[in-house]
Amino acid sequence: MRKDNYKRTKSSRSKKYTRQISNWSSVAESQMVPIGGHKLPPLPYKYNALEPYIGAETMKIHYDKLHRNYVNKLNEAELALQKARNSNDYKLVQYWEYQLAFAGAGHYLHTIWWKSITPHHTTIREPLATEIENSFGSDEQFKEQFSAVAKSVPGPGWAMLVWSPRAWRMEIIQVKSHQNNTQQDCIPLLVLDVWEHAYFLNYLNRKDEYVDMWWNIIDWETANYRLTQAKKVKWKPY
Ligand code: MN
Repeated sequence: MRKDNYKRTKSSRSKKYTRQISNWSSVAESQMVPIGGHKLPPLPYKYNALEPYIGAETMKIHYDKLHRNYVNKLNEAELALQKARNSNDYKLVQYWEYQLAFAGAGHYLHTIWWKSITPHHTTIREPLATEIENSFGSDEQFKEQFSAVAKSVPGPGWAMLVWSPRAWRMEIIQVKSHQNNTQQDCIPLLVLDVWEHAYFLNYLNRKDEYVDMWWNIIDWETANYRLTQAKKVKWKPY
């Protein structure tokens, strides 16, 4: 990456942060969530921590209202499907499966989202650096494609960097809503929320400006950690 694109205003405590993240991310990773028992994960910084890039009001609404709503709707869908199984009544199965996909993807993606951005200064390290080059040719080509994907999402959606355990390389996906247009069997590494709720208060309709800003606040440590974890999954290559 060109250094001048990634100038940061807040860069303190970065080394300590790098050491902390793998412990922090792996907490309780092997524990089962009971049916209907999903919880809103803690926000790893204060609402105003990303200012001036993302304002406190946006962060508060996004986290406390919208993400919380996805958690509630996911739990509701899981419990409704459990009830359907217990009563062998699948009249509303299509409705609940939609809620399960929409709210479930919304919950899981936002859980990654809060850790895809950070007030700390982070940099691209191995193994992420090599995999970016293998998958996209260069850092610059990765950045250009990712930005183009994010800017061209038609309506609400996401841009995602994913790892394919099948292809054994990364891909950039343009997700519509939370759950459409994805490439199944891939593992998200880094996600960019381009729903209007993520930027409208600060950027109004200037989505391109928001996407360009985002490169200043990426948490590369999270992407690197998730890549390392994703590479533990090994499928036969086809
Ligand atoms: Mn969102």
